[in-house]
Amino acid sequence: MPVLDIDKIRRDFPNLATRGRDDKPIIYFDNAATTFKPCQVIASTHSHYCHRTANIHRGVHYLSEEATAEYESSREKVRDFLGTRNTFEIIFTKGSTESINLVAASYGRRFIKQGDEVIISEMEHHSNIVPWQLLREETGCVLKVIPFNDEGELILEEYRKLLSPRTKLVSIVHVSNSLGTVNPVKDIIRLAHAAGALALVDAAQSVSHAPIDVKDLDCDFLVFSGHKLYGPTGVGVLYGKEKLLESMPPYQGGGDMILSVTFEKTIFNRLPYKFEAGTPNIAGVISLGEAISYVNNLDAGQLIAYKKELLAHGHKVLSQVPGLRMIGTAKEKAPIFSFVIEGIHAHDIGTLVDREGVAIRTGHHCTQPVMKHFGIPGTARASLAFYNTKEELDIFAAALNKSIKVFHD
Ligand code: PLP
Repeated sequence: MPVLDIDKIRRDFPNLATRGRDDKPIIYFDNAATTFKPCQVIASTHSHYCHRTANIHRGVHYLSEEATAEYESSREKVRDFLGTRNTFEIIFTKGSTESINLVAASYGRRFIKQGDEVIISEMEHHSNIVPWQLLREETGCVLKVIPFNDEGELILEEYRKLLSPRTKLVSIVHVSNSLGTVNPVKDIIRLAHAAGALALVDAAQSVSHAPIDVKDLDCDFLVFSGHKLYGPTGVGVLYGKEKLLESMPPYQGGGDMILSVTFEKTIFNRLPYKFEAGTPNIAGVISLGEAISYVNNLDAGQLIAYKKELLAHGHKVLSQVPGLRMIGTAKEKAPIFSFVIEGIHAHDIGTLVDREGVAIRTGHHCTQPVMKHFGIPGTARASLAFYNTKEELDIFAAALNKSIKVFHD
């Protein structure tokens, strides 16, 4: 099998050439927070504002038609990327957080009643916890939580016990941003459906990990953010099955989501526009389409194989760092390394390796229940993308060793 040309890929990401503190080359290991963008994506944003600035859907003039065509062609790219049946099922939002809030506010308020149950897991990002707590406050529904074991794997026997005839929705993260665990979402969805519940997949991290096919997963909703897929910030996607989206009330009211308005009555627009009130992030949506084209041009099989190599190499070199304890050692993992080092606060680790040019994240990563499980305030987290290399991991391990020495001297 031909190997990926990582040097060529790296040249597409101008940010990889940025110099960091003390003019050191930057090693960017904070990809779970946001990824760098290839020049094709940056050029697309630039070109939109230079040559195609116009509002969409409402204009009869040339620029508006062009911008609308590009915006809608992005929707088609997302449809193809997720393998959905039609473009009505693709709603553009601000990101994963807004997509989950949309489902909780619209589907939740209409269909989830007092005593109904929503199941999430112990490893959810706060954005897949808080919207359901807000719904609980409003409706009196019950929130149940699937626990995970000390490797960071969901305990499916416990999940089976939580399912009941009152379960309305199971909302689950596909790849954990703080543990790296890849959850068996297909099984989780199948069990949810067998219990008569719907399933939402938080694909914020998994969207850049491996190809997603919503028809194969058979999830009812799926969310992701553009900025974690080499696209711009401020844009994301909600996929929902057409029948469900049809049955849901609008999330926000305003322009573009209506067919007609009188003071007596408003008739809502058809899908997907019913859920896209106001002027959207036009340049963002168009550039997200460009990010998808970029990823589609790479060989998915090779990307997966390469990330597996990075994962194995990372575990090997980090296991040799004295006092380092990996948090999240599931069998199925993305190249996300969350760890603590005996006697050194995670923030100090982050600050010390930053001096060596390595950008990692420290803290609870918006997953405080995960930290509570392990009885720690936070971790240091290195999260890798396909443009990272084994050499960078070696430099990182050396930077950690040096930091430990500096700290103890
Ligand atoms: N879900 C997971 C697993 C995440 O990692 C994140 C962000 O880190 C989110 C949801 C929220 O994404 P956003 O802030 O782009 O809405």
